[in-house]
Amino acid sequence: MLIVDQPYYRSIGREVEVFEHAYHNQLPMLLKGPTGSGKSRFVEYMAYRLQKDLITVACHEETSSTDLVGRFIIKGAETVWQDGPLTRAVKQGAIIYLDEIAEARPDVIVAIHPLTDFRRVLYIDKLGIEIKAHPNFMLVASYNPGYQKGFKELKPSTRQRFISLSFNYPDPEKEAEIIANESQIDAQTARRLVKIANKIRNLTELGLAETVSTRLLVDAGKLIHTGLNKRLAVHAAVIEPLTDDPDTLEAMKDMADLMI
Ligand code: ADP
Repeated sequence: MLIVDQPYYRSIGREVEVFEHAYHNQLPMLLKGPTGSGKSRFVEYMAYRLQKDLITVACHEETSSTDLVGRFIIKGAETVWQDGPLTRAVKQGAIIYLDEIAEARPDVIVAIHPLTDFRRVLYIDKLGIEIKAHPNFMLVASYNPGYQKGFKELKPSTRQRFISLSFNYPDPEKEAEIIANESQIDAQTARRLVKIANKIRNLTELGLAETVSTRLLVDAGKLIHTGLNKRLAVHAAVIEPLTDDPDTLEAMKDMADLMI
C-alpha cells in the first residue's frame, strides 16, 4: 500500500536519518521497544517519506513461513500458487514490516535469513525457485525486548543481521506534544497525562508486565477530547489496561486522581 497522506510522526532522536541510510544501503532494520512506543507509526512515516509501498504483517504464535512466502490454493479444479506478503514485497520492491517478529514460528526466521545478508534472495521451497530481491526491497522487523518475564527472545545471531534502533517513551515535552497532536486535547492536560504516566513508569516495584505506553495516553486524550471526565478517562484508558490486581488498581487510581 502506498501511503498518500503524510502520517504524523514526531521524531525522538536521529532515527529518520539512520533508517534512510539503512534503506539506501539495502540493509534490514530492527526496531526494538515496548508496544505503543511509535514503531509502527515510524515505519509508516518512513514509507511515506521514501515513497515506497508498505506491507505490514502482524506476527503471532501461529505465523509460519508459509504465511509469508505463499501457498498453493485450490481454485475450481486447479491448484494455483499464491504469493504471500513477503514474496510480493521482494518482487515489487516494497518495504515489508514484520511486527513482533519474535512471536512468529522459528521457520519465519529461517525464511528471512537469506534476505538479510548480501544474498538478498528468497527461497521458495515449494516451487523450487529462488527470487532475487528488487533493489528497493527493504525488510523491517519489530521486537519487544521484554525486560520482564514472559516475552520471547530473538536469538543473538538473528539480531546481528539487522541495523537496530531502540524506541522508548519520548521525553515529557515531546510525549505531551504527541498526545496533544493525536488527540486534540490542550497542552496542559497532555502534560498532566505524561506526568501520571511517568509516575507509574517509575513504580517498578509493582512488577507490571507492561507499563504505560504513549498509545494508552493518546487513547486517554481521545476520551477526554470527546468529553469524558478526565479521571474516568485515565482510569479506563491508562490504569485498567495495566493489571487485574484490585489493590494495585486502587492505589494507581488514587495517585492519578491527585494529578488530574
Ligand atoms: P508500536 O508500533 O511501537 O506498538 P505505534 O506506532 O502503534 O506503537 O504507536 C502507538 C500510538 O502512539 C500511535 O498510533 C500514535 O498515536 C502514538 N505515537 C507514539 N509515538 C509517536 C511518535 N513519535 N509520533 C507520533 N505518534 C506517536
